[in-house]
Amino acid sequence: KESRAKKFQRQHMDPDGPSNNPNYCNQMMRRRNMTEGRCKPVNTFVHEPLVDVQAICFQGNITCKNGQPNCHKSSSSMKITDCRVTSGSKYPNCDYRTSQKERHIIVACEGNPYVPVHFDASV
Ligand code: ADP
Repeated sequence: KESRAKKFQRQHMDPDGPSNNPNYCNQMMRRRNMTEGRCKPVNTFVHEPLVDVQAICFQGNITCKNGQPNCHKSSSSMKITDCRVTSGSKYPNCDYRTSQKERHIIVACEGNPYVPVHFDASV
């Protein structure tokens, strides 16, 4: 079974980015298996080295949106792409809007090693 850490990498890591392609989210959401069964409504890809994203688990500790205490905010801003399903999108034709940003990101971390398992927000 896929570990939570590997699932985070599949859903959120794309170090070889960002790309100017307006179809980035349409292609990546499908390629990373987030359009199976339903169109995952929102998802963020992070365009930084994995080690830099893993290091966030040892940066500023904050409360997550769900009230759990295991979130961490990156001390640096990071290159990200937000994907949001369009209002007209109808499964199985998942259609996304692609927006590139530079933001501090907030991830939830778990386990030993203590690594990212959930993307909480960008600020
Ligand atoms: P994402 O939230 O990154 O888009 P998923 O919802 O597929 O991805 O998976 C999030 C995983 O992270 C779940 O297994 C969930 O139990 C775990 N998790 C650990 N800590 C938290 C937290 N504070 N908030 C939300 N999910 C968390």
